[in-house]
Amino acid sequence: MKKNRSSAGNGNNTEKILKRISFSRKAPLSMYFVLVVLYVIASVVVSKTAGSHETITVFGSKLNVYAFAGIFSAISNICIMFMVVYFGKLGFITALIGLVLQLPMMLYGIIAKGNISSLPGLFTGLFTISAIIVIHINNLRIDRFQARMRDQAVTDRLTGLPNRFACSELVNDLIKRQEKFAIVSMDINNFKSINDTMGRNAGNEVLIEVASRWKAIADSDDTTTLDFVTRQSGDEFSLIIRNFSSEQDILKTIKHYQLTLEKKVTVENCDLYLTACFGYTVFPQDADNSDNLFSCADAAVHELKSNNTGNRILRFTTDLLKSERSIEIERKIKAALVNDSLYFNLQPQFDINHNLRGFEALARMKDTDGSMISPGEFIPIAEKAGLIDKVDISVFRNSAKFFGELVRKTGADITLSVNVSVRHLMKNDFLDEIRNVIETSGVPADKLEIEITESIMIDSAEKALQCINDLKNMGLKIAIDDFGTGYSSLSYLINFPADMLKVDKSFIDKMNTSESSKQYVAAIISIGHIMNFSVISEGVEEAEQLDTLREIGCDYIQGFIWGRPLSPEAAEDLVINSMQPVKN
Ligand code: C2E
Ligand code: CA
Ligand code: CA
Repeated sequence: MKKNRSSAGNGNNTEKILKRISFSRKAPLSMYFVLVVLYVIASVVVSKTAGSHETITVFGSKLNVYAFAGIFSAISNICIMFMVVYFGKLGFITALIGLVLQLPMMLYGIIAKGNISSLPGLFTGLFTISAIIVIHINNLRIDRFQARMRDQAVTDRLTGLPNRFACSELVNDLIKRQEKFAIVSMDINNFKSINDTMGRNAGNEVLIEVASRWKAIADSDDTTTLDFVTRQSGDEFSLIIRNFSSEQDILKTIKHYQLTLEKKVTVENCDLYLTACFGYTVFPQDADNSDNLFSCADAAVHELKSNNTGNRILRFTTDLLKSERSIEIERKIKAALVNDSLYFNLQPQFDINHNLRGFEALARMKDTDGSMISPGEFIPIAEKAGLIDKVDISVFRNSAKFFGELVRKTGADITLSVNVSVRHLMKNDFLDEIRNVIETSGVPADKLEIEITESIMIDSAEKALQCINDLKNMGLKIAIDDFGTGYSSLSYLINFPADMLKVDKSFIDKMNTSESSKQYVAAIISIGHIMNFSVISEGVEEAEQLDTLREIGCDYIQGFIWGRPLSPEAAEDLVINSMQPVKN
């Protein structure tokens, strides 16, 4: 099947599309026809009235008919000027024909009939012809200048391909016309290493070669689709594919671009074998505006690059947005760390008689629009991206500073618990950081508790144990967080220098609906007590849960029933209120 070029005409596809999407001075064709009709009518009126000696009566006054010739001659000249200015070559030729055709009639009137009243008209006609020739020559110069400007604005300097501006102009145009198309993000693999090892000039040569191969395909009949290839930046290119009837057509076209790239490229006497990743998205199925379409194609290409499964072509699916969201959140965490805009809430912990024991500091982060990003979402991303130690220490430092001032101000005997990820715990300077926070905040070490999740400790027992012993020696308390969710083993617990077990919310949730869950929590509490640990239940929301926990001997409660995570100011109020003597 040959390309259906009906919408682009024959010849150089890229050039045709560029012309269509670039700035044009031309007015709508309907205006041209209106001007021609007006011009003909005005010219006829001029020829009928110019030599007339008759008079007509308008509102009681007598007027010479030939006076109308001046008015209509002005109208016909205005029409001519508009045609020449707004309709380029077409307008110029029409105007010239109209004016030149009038000349013989005027000359005939003067020479044959001796009618010298046509003399001014003759001179006006000659003058107008000279004027439109000057205007037209000037228009040609402006057009040439505009074409040069357009080329510069829409062309990538290095490769000569259309640039990202041209690409988004075409995409917006296609969306406006609701024409289906695919955007393919094409990213050369390992291009950076070519630049790094062979130098920028070699890198540029590679880009020029790749661009010329891809442009040759776009302008050839090798694919059955109508293609437009552009360079976005660096080694990123975009391909717009139109006139396809199925997804198979899109894939076949992409394969052409893939195959031509994979043929040997020789640069500075080195043979290079290149590959690229092709992520694509289809309008209107995947997204309905140009920003989202480009993001979708980029998400597909990022997925290919990060997973490196050997697969080189991938269509966007909504699943990929998750990884895009992760990248975005990672960026937000980094920005929040730089601006110090991570903050904390304090969730109160109480003993079973509702006396305040202290607070757990919980990290909080706001999006740019002011909405909250849940720690359940950003903490795992921070862990994966290796940012968790910075997040932990930022929450620890800020909450300890506040807590130190609060304790000095109120004299309250309370504890601050902070969460520490095992990745952070394993860092060599972890203990120094903790020492530094203790010194600067002035919080006594025995009023600080470090929460470490159970599963994590089992995974990396040896080093974690060493670190936890060091923390204990410094006087800090240790809590085992989310207890019950890991592979709790008694022998492991015996060796563990913890002070507190935190029973995970999932068991508290099930406690009153399942007898076995209640027995399980009761068993944890008993074992904890045998090992000399205190036990706190997390996520307590209902009075019934509280009654059961009291009954089975739980020591502490943390949950919405007695307190949600609070701002530092609200936590301060709670401390002050909790210290008021109870009135009888
Ligand atoms: P976590 O350490 O188990 O913290 C307790 C979570 O349970 C908190 O969620 C708290 O708001 C929630 N919670 C407490 N009581 C109730 C209740 O009665 N009902 C319900 N539905 N939820 C309750 P949050 O603040 O969303 O924190 C989620 C997790 O994020 C934390 O679980 C912790 O693993 C992690 N995290 C929070 N801050 C930090 C931090 O500074 N560093 C590290 N490494 N992890 C943190
Ligand atoms: Ca915790
Ligand atoms: Ca927990």
